[in-house]
Amino acid sequence: MAEQTCLFCKIVAGAIPAAKLFEDDRAVAFGDINPQAPTHALVIPRAHVASLNEASAEDEALLGHLLVVAARVAREAGHSEGGFRTVINTGADAGQSVFHVHVHVLGGRRLTWPPG
Ligand code: 5GP
Ligand code: ZN
Repeated sequence: MAEQTCLFCKIVAGAIPAAKLFEDDRAVAFGDINPQAPTHALVIPRAHVASLNEASAEDEALLGHLLVVAARVAREAGHSEGGFRTVINTGADAGQSVFHVHVHVLGGRRLTWPPG
C-alpha cells in the first residue's frame, strides 16, 4: 500500500525519477531536490519504514547499512576529510516531511551547530 502512495517508495520503484548516486539490494541514495548544501543526498531503504518511530529491532542492520551507505556517498563526493553531516528528521517537531525514513547527507560547506 505504501508503495502506491509514498513518494520515496515511488522513487525506489522508478516511477518518479531521481538523480541516483548509489543503489544496492537494500538501499538507494539520490540527490535532494532542494539541496541545502553543495552535496545534499538522501539515503533510503528500499523497504518502507515510515520513520524511526516505526523502526523495530528487525530494522537494526538496515539502519546501520544506511549510515554506511551515507559515508560512502560522502566519500565519493570528496567529503571524508573535510567532514559531512548526517541527519534523520523524525516527526513533526523535527520537520519530517516525507514519511519514508531517510538519512540526509550534507557536505561541501561549513555547517552551523546547533541546527535550526
Ligand atoms: P524531511 O523534511 O522529511 O527530513 O526531508 C525530505 C526531503 O525530501 C527534503 O529535503 C526534500 O527536499 C526532499 N524531497 C521532497 N520531494 C522530493 C522529490 O520528489 N525528489 C527528491 N530527490 N527529493 C525530494
Ligand atoms: Zn515508502
